[in-house]
Amino acid sequence: MATPEDARRANRSLLLGALHRQGPRSRADLAKHTGLTRATVSAVVRDLLDDGLVEELGLDPAGGVGKPATLVGIDADGRHVVCLDLSEPAQVVGALVDLGGKVVARRTYDRAAATGPAAVALVARICAELVEAADRPLLGIGIASPGVIDADGVVVTAAHLGWRHLPLRSRLATEFALPVAIVNDANAAALAELTFGEGTATNLIYVRVDEGVGAGLVLDGRLFTGSSAAAGEIGHVVVDPDGATCACGKRGCLETEVSDPLLNRRLAANADDGPAILDRAGEHLGIALATVVSALDVTDVVLSGSDPVTTETFRAAAARAIAARTLPVIAERLVVRASTFAFDDAVIGAAARVLDLELGIR
Ligand SMILES: [Zn+2]
Repeated sequence: MATPEDARRANRSLLLGALHRQGPRSRADLAKHTGLTRATVSAVVRDLLDDGLVEELGLDPAGGVGKPATLVGIDADGRHVVCLDLSEPAQVVGALVDLGGKVVARRTYDRAAATGPAAVALVARICAELVEAADRPLLGIGIASPGVIDADGVVVTAAHLGWRHLPLRSRLATEFALPVAIVNDANAAALAELTFGEGTATNLIYVRVDEGVGAGLVLDGRLFTGSSAAAGEIGHVVVDPDGATCACGKRGCLETEVSDPLLNRRLAANADDGPAILDRAGEHLGIALATVVSALDVTDVVLSGSDPVTTETFRAAAARAIAARTLPVIAERLVVRASTFAFDDAVIGAAARVLDLELGIR
């Protein structure tokens, strides 16, 4: 049964969600957009003002006749989120992210090859340092981790970190007495795009190339994680049966043809063949994506990674390879574009998850 606290939460989410999507609004506009009564909107706004989550921003310049209305907007600095990105092999990125998805502080920490319990201890130490460094009230902690993460925040498996069935969320929640969200890194990046991206696509594939290749799927405006929480694990789709042997035992997996270290190595060794190397790698990614794009009828493929992956040569080759393998009705609409968040996408997305869970901002 819905309690008064449930209703309060729902109304706060409704208003914060509207302010996030549409920007500052007057109370009258908010009533119109949310269907809540003027009296309810006024009461909820007062509650959010008291909480420091929204702020009054002066009079609405576009106001009509009569008494000018005061605009209300989300106070981006009303809360910060402690966020970690564990996807890189050599370092951990720690950040404080505000309610607008802006990174307000960023630190990098040497991972020193930590795995297993040592990696857990490192994560806890970094969280403690960022909690200490925060000068705003904290909304929670968001962790972007490689591997498969279940709905309870258990890291089912993260090979590079040596974690199996690790209940990371409950562990950190107990230690810090804050809400904690654990999200797969590619899924986090997709959430960053969905929550704070410039595009308005509600069906997209976000491809993140680092040590490996992962993808986050957004379908009908929601992150899709699949029945084993492993949706988007495209790194071991075979794209070249005659290719190199992969760590998984197969030959020519996408990850053996397209990964950040591999591309950088190939480019360094064959400086004159740069465009051909990027073209071939982009084509391999496109081959792996064509079936997914066709099956799901997404409109956007967003690419994220370091220099090789964000080049126009790579992007164009991937777009061509997808177009050559899909129906025109899909290919003509499809946009293949670079992420606007660069490598902050995972920390921003981890924050987005906490914003969604705690405030209903999405
Ligand atoms: Zn493989």
